[in-house]
Amino acid sequence: MLNFKHLNLLLAILLIFVQASFAVEAAADNGPLIRIAIAKDIDAVEIQMTGAYEILNPLTRESLESGMKFTPTVVTKGKSGLMLGNKQFAVNRIRFYCRRDVTVGVNNKERRYRGFVDVVVTPNNKLLVINQLEVEDYIKGVLYHEVSNRWPMEALKVQAVAARSYALYQIKASVTRDFDVTNDIYSQVYGGRNSERYRTNLAVDGTKGEVLMFQGKVLPAYFHATCGGHTENSKELWPRESLSPLEGIRCIYCRESPHYFWKRNLQLKEIQEKLNAKGLKIGLIDDIAVTQRNRSERILTLIITDKQGQQLTISGKDFREIVGPNIIRSNNYYVVMQGYYCDFFGKGWGHGVGMCQWGAQGMATQGYHYDKILQFYYPGSTIKVIKGSDSIRAY
Ligand SMILES: [Zn+2]
Repeated sequence: MLNFKHLNLLLAILLIFVQASFAVEAAADNGPLIRIAIAKDIDAVEIQMTGAYEILNPLTRESLESGMKFTPTVVTKGKSGLMLGNKQFAVNRIRFYCRRDVTVGVNNKERRYRGFVDVVVTPNNKLLVINQLEVEDYIKGVLYHEVSNRWPMEALKVQAVAARSYALYQIKASVTRDFDVTNDIYSQVYGGRNSERYRTNLAVDGTKGEVLMFQGKVLPAYFHATCGGHTENSKELWPRESLSPLEGIRCIYCRESPHYFWKRNLQLKEIQEKLNAKGLKIGLIDDIAVTQRNRSERILTLIITDKQGQQLTISGKDFREIVGPNIIRSNNYYVVMQGYYCDFFGKGWGHGVGMCQWGAQGMATQGYHYDKILQFYYPGSTIKVIKGSDSIRAY
C-alpha cells in the first residue's frame, strides 16, 4: 500500500530522473543542423516510421498525427495541400519525425534517415523531400561514399574534417534556399543511416565538431580522389575561390592510387558530336592539340582542328566537362591521334583542388596524424571545434 511517505520518495526519485534527462539534453551539443534535398521534382514519396512518431506542420508546430507505428504511406500532392494516403492536409509542408529513423522510399528505393524529413510542395507542383539533421550525423552518412571504410583511421579522420568543413561552408552559402546541399555528386554523396559504418562513424566521433578555418572563416575544404602529382589551384576552376590554402601543392603520396594513371580511347566522331551538341562548330576532327598548361600541369587550352582546317580553341575545363568528367578523369593528360580514334593518357581523378584522398591514405599509411595531413593539403588553415551554440553564420 502506498502511503504519503512512499509517494514523496517516489516523487523525489522521479524528479531526479527528470533532472538527469534534462542535464543530458543540455550537455548534448552536437553542432549545427544541415538540410539535404534527398529527392527533387517527384510526384510521390513513400514514408514509413517504426517507433514513436509524430507528423506535424513545421510552420505552426501543430501536431497532425502521432502514434507508435506509421505503416508505409504514399505522400502526394492533393487539390490543396498534401495527401497522406487518402487523407488530405491543407498544408504545403509536412514534417515526419520518429524517435528512430524515417524510412523514405523514392522510385522503389528505400533509405533510412536520422533527424526529421519534410515533404514540401514546390511552386512547380512537384514534391521536394528534405532531410534535416545534425551535421555530425550527416557526415556519418557521407564518409562511406567518399573513402573506403577499411582505410587507416587517420585518413578517415582527414575526410571527416574536410567533409564537415565543406558542409558548414555550404550551410553558410545557402541561407536563402530551401536546403543547404543535395545528396548527389554536386554536393557530397549522402546515403543516410544505411551508409553508416562502424569505422567511419568512429572517425566522425573522433573529430567531433572540428572544421578547417582560414582567416576567421570556414574553409571550403574541397577534395578529390587522386591529384596525380600536384593539387590544383582553386582559382583555375572557380575564379572567386582564391584562398592560399587552396593554391595547390606538390603531392608524392598518391602514387599507389589505382587512379594515378588512366587511359581512355575515344572515337573522334563521339567527341565531335558532344562539342556540336553544345553549339560549338567543328567538323570531322583531324587533330586535338594541347597548347597551354598551368603550374600543376593541368591543361588550360586545347586547339581542335577539323578536316577542313577549321579550328576551335577550348579551355581544358570546358572540354572535360563536355566530353564527360568521368570519361576524361582529370585535366592532366596528353592526346595521341589514332585515325578515327584518339588515346588519352592521363594522371589523377577529379578536379584536383584541396585534399587528395589517395594521398591522405598514403600519408596515413606512413604514420602521419590527421591534423598533419590536413595541414599538408590545406597549408595555412587551422582546426577549430564548432559547437551547436555557436552561430554558424558568423563563420
Ligand atoms: Zn596526390
